[in-house]
Amino acid sequence: MRIDAAASEGRSRAERLAQELGGLEVDALLVESLVDVRYLTGFTGSHGLALLLGESARAKLARHRFLTDFRYATQSAEQVPDSFEREIVSGDLLEAAAAVLEGTSGRLGFDEAHLTVKAHRRLAELLPAGWELLACNGAVERLRAVKEPGEIARIRAASQLADEALAGVLEGGLAGRTEREVAIELELAMRRLGAEAPSFPSIVAAGAHGALPHAEPRDRAISRDVLVTIDWGALHEGYCSDCTRTYATGEGISQLARATYALVLDAQQQGLAAVRAGRSGREIDAVAREVIERAGEGEHFGHGLGHGVGMEIHEGPRLSRTASEEPLRAGNVVTVEPGVYLPGRLGVRIEDLVVVGEDSQEVLTSLSKALTVIS
Ligand code: ZN
Ligand code: ZN
Repeated sequence: MRIDAAASEGRSRAERLAQELGGLEVDALLVESLVDVRYLTGFTGSHGLALLLGESARAKLARHRFLTDFRYATQSAEQVPDSFEREIVSGDLLEAAAAVLEGTSGRLGFDEAHLTVKAHRRLAELLPAGWELLACNGAVERLRAVKEPGEIARIRAASQLADEALAGVLEGGLAGRTEREVAIELELAMRRLGAEAPSFPSIVAAGAHGALPHAEPRDRAISRDVLVTIDWGALHEGYCSDCTRTYATGEGISQLARATYALVLDAQQQGLAAVRAGRSGREIDAVAREVIERAGEGEHFGHGLGHGVGMEIHEGPRLSRTASEEPLRAGNVVTVEPGVYLPGRLGVRIEDLVVVGEDSQEVLTSLSKALTVIS
């Protein structure tokens, strides 16, 4: 399968990254994470690495390198653009990458989040004299955080697909079905609508179980007059979506459930309104968190407000108390998902996916956030 669009996007991405290498004080960058390799080269196989060359290294070594094994000879020839010299390696990829650098010298960047300590030690031994290793973390992830229009279109499509799947499942009601049944049906519906897979295992959590932010669906029937939190997403054309809605299974839910829902919705709307380019993830988290803290529920909102979504379900930038002070940029795609979890009683989380624009935003989630009864 030839993916022309992906290949041409891959070429410009590799060029953009190569131009940044000087600023990172490295002459070449070893890219090991398969998601990062796919982003840069378009390669969708399960074994490959890329060696990005900066200006000085390219003067001697010409093109960037893409290395894989014989199983992927045909696939990589179709997917990886010619700005990469493709090498089919019979032994170890790291060894082959080190061999490429023979006869040159400089600094090789790597990502500590992906290169194991063992691989780092081995690479240090394998590198030709004159080369040293320098940690260069998140270089590709930072590039990935700012989405191109084509990527946003894919995330939008994944999000629409996921919304449609849930709407269909809800027509069958919630009360009386087990959490697991609902989760399985939802995942099946996404597959039927064209998703490659769910973007993560779906969460369906009713009543007190909803107080666990990462609850696993149980084989237990959902009762009437409780809250049910559903957190799900689709993987479509390599891109993820992520959304959470909390529904009531009857008008008879408690006052506490109504009040908690109203509080989380208020925090979610204020947090969402605060999302814009130029603001840091930390600031935006604080806007939503303050709403929940003022209501005295700060201790029951234990996670960050949101995260970036793209080829991975959790990626940069983060919206949390410990997020960097770096401002959001137009093209970031992030979730806004405050929650209040009352142990032994109930939980509410509401999550939207939003594209950060220069002075606008596009909410990709289309489902209503008004408290809705699905019995
Ligand atoms: Zn989610
Ligand atoms: Zn999320």
